[in-house]
Amino acid sequence: MFKMNITGMIPKNMENRGLMILRDNFGYIEEILNHRKIPKKGISDDKIKMFLKFLSLMDTDKDPKVIRIGEREGRFASKVQEELVSGFCHGVGRSGNLIDPQPKAPGASVMYSLTNNLLTSFLNGLGLKVYSIAVPVATGMSLSLCLNAIRKKYQSNVVIYPYAAHKSPIKAISFSGFKMRLIETTLYGDALKVDVRDIEDALIHEIECKNNPCILSTLTFFPPRESDDIERIAKICKEYNVPHIINGAYALQNKYYINKLNRAFKYRVDAVVSSSDKTLLTPIGGSIIYSKDKEFLREISLSYPGRACATPIVNILISLLSLGMDKYLKLMDQQIECRNLLDELLNNLAEKIGCKVLKVNNPISLSITINSDPVKIAGKLYSLRITGPRGVRSSDKFATCYLGGYPYNYIVINAAIGVKRKDIIDTIKKLENVLLDC
Ligand SMILES: *Cc1c(COP(=O)(O)O)cnc(C)c1O
Repeated sequence: MFKMNITGMIPKNMENRGLMILRDNFGYIEEILNHRKIPKKGISDDKIKMFLKFLSLMDTDKDPKVIRIGEREGRFASKVQEELVSGFCHGVGRSGNLIDPQPKAPGASVMYSLTNNLLTSFLNGLGLKVYSIAVPVATGMSLSLCLNAIRKKYQSNVVIYPYAAHKSPIKAISFSGFKMRLIETTLYGDALKVDVRDIEDALIHEIECKNNPCILSTLTFFPPRESDDIERIAKICKEYNVPHIINGAYALQNKYYINKLNRAFKYRVDAVVSSSDKTLLTPIGGSIIYSKDKEFLREISLSYPGRACATPIVNILISLLSLGMDKYLKLMDQQIECRNLLDELLNNLAEKIGCKVLKVNNPISLSITINSDPVKIAGKLYSLRITGPRGVRSSDKFATCYLGGYPYNYIVINAAIGVKRKDIIDTIKKLENVLLDC
């Protein structure tokens, strides 16, 4: 690429030795670019920084002889801004399409393409035979992109939404211009689920009304709401030829969800969305969209209007390079250990205070019933510097995901990827103190 001319300055044998060391120190860049897969072992922060610098030095705003007379030239007022985007001042995408190469930014375009390659190999490594794209907006906005693409392709006009009380997907439906048909949850013991027969009835009804429905199902949620039966929903979608998007915000951290996805993929799943921060430990702002259909991913990326900030994509690339497959798999194991520990400690506590842990299938979170006001308890935990637990009153129909009367006040506690044993132990200790105090 460039000639490292050090000839004549040091003895020849030293020169050769030095050049060999240099080659080995840069070899990882060649390796990443040749393999285009998530590395098995993570790469150091220094090396990642240098790699990003290399890539960004290919963008036209870094051309020392460039003449820049466009209205958008990757200019910046402060060096701080350039650092914030890792040098990719031109962002990613071309006005018509997010994943198209940007002529002013060969480096950022390579960075984005490489990220999508690494991401796909990551999902393949988790056992999902899919294609994927990194998207520079969070889960809710990505669901909107998917729904938009569905509308364009199939002229769908109504989203059938098995009720899950997260505002992002609900807003995503209205943002993308759909009517929403909500399907209520049903109480089975402690657990809340949406009966697939109710979904099918709604589907038939919408078709009879000459509407053109699609389904947005939910794979990951807080107890007492259980996962939608995405396999049976996918079956129905195939049978009635109806598009199916899955909200799998934090589905990629546990085999329980990945297995469910694989069973659903046998029938009809148009695309799945997972959050990049909940999955890959990036700062908030990105997501991962995956599908068996590579062309449909392109159509989804086409529904994004305009160019995008490179940072959410760079963050995904950094996580993939930094963790490597081995570390991610280790984190998945630790998540299971922490979830088991949470189960044990929470059941001990429940017995001590005469409450119970709700019997709900969920590989990440658990809920414990509370005899006093759960919102106050969660508030006290917040003041004790614990973030994450959610207190929900039985009367809060939105948060419980149940329009009927739910029998318990409860607190939800998570053991999601990245959590540490000590956090679980300390949380339950403090929760016990707070509860005994009431
Ligand atoms: C986290 C989460 C979201 C998040 O949406 P954002 O747009 O990324 O804030 C949506 N749905 C569910 C089920 C979630 O858990």
